[in-house]
Amino acid sequence: RGKRAFIAGVADDHGYGWAIAKSLAAAGAEILVGTWVPALNIFESNFRRGKFDESRVLPDGSLMKITKVYPLDAVYDTPEDVPEDVKTNKRYAGSSKWTVKEVAESVKEDFGSIDILVHSLANGPEVSKPLLETSRYGYLAAISASSYSYVSLLQHFAPIMNRGGATISLTYIASERIIPGYGGGMSSAKAALESDTQVLAFEAGRKHGIRVNTISAGPLRSRAAKAIGFIDMMIDYSSENAPLQKELSAEEVGNAAAFLASPLASAITGTVLYVDNGLNAMGVGV
Ligand code: NAD
Repeated sequence: RGKRAFIAGVADDHGYGWAIAKSLAAAGAEILVGTWVPALNIFESNFRRGKFDESRVLPDGSLMKITKVYPLDAVYDTPEDVPEDVKTNKRYAGSSKWTVKEVAESVKEDFGSIDILVHSLANGPEVSKPLLETSRYGYLAAISASSYSYVSLLQHFAPIMNRGGATISLTYIASERIIPGYGGGMSSAKAALESDTQVLAFEAGRKHGIRVNTISAGPLRSRAAKAIGFIDMMIDYSSENAPLQKELSAEEVGNAAAFLASPLASAITGTVLYVDNGLNAMGVGV
């Protein structure tokens, strides 16, 4: 039977989550997505109105199908965690069962199990502030949305994952090298995510027989990246300095994710895979 994937962090057709969904769909997987609650309405209405049809085309000419879209806010684990002002917020009140625990329960109810879990989400309210000027609130919010969200997803989804399954997150080299401009504790959040990839690979490997890897992706002009404000500069920098002097396409990251999720990668777990035209290997630019 075909594999079933749940991809958290798809709200348009510009980001890595969308590209990963496409590569997995092209490889025959059934696609479920988790979409951030405030972005859900616009994503679903754009999808219905055919706005993504062009970018839904798979290599065989068919259109990628998304079997079900789940509202998700990965900052909240259970309904008890949701503060009153969020509960009653207009953008949240129209949806239900969007905490991590409830989404995992809904997926279990609807489909029984999954094989592939993708975490393609991040958020840092103070990302444009240097770390030296970041508040405690901003730092912890970055870690909560961008790192703990992965721990939580794995905690709740691993029990419904089939043995031999795989989980993948997206990280950025700012975790290990200085990237001025990637602030607000986002560099710290990616460092946590990468360290957690190792510990979770051990724990989820032993307990559930699943693999845990992360892709350190090069720069892409996604919605989230545009919000940081330096994405065009990073793309130019990479084109000038990376071993491969071409713009990175989201599809290249999608294909690497499909590889990591496949049996071809059955002995690969706990790793950071660079999909960045080789930029990480450079010491100085030339
Ligand atoms: P994106 O905007 O397509 O994806 C980010 C998604 O996270 C959005 O859909 C957003 O709605 C969602 N999100 C934010 N907060 C959420 C929450 N609390 N609960 C659920 N969803 C939430 O942008 P992207 O750049 O493709 O980001 C995907 C991943 O790739 C992120 O982890 C990002 O850090 C990573 N990444 C991006 C780049 C880049 O240059 N774009 C480089 C390396 C790594």
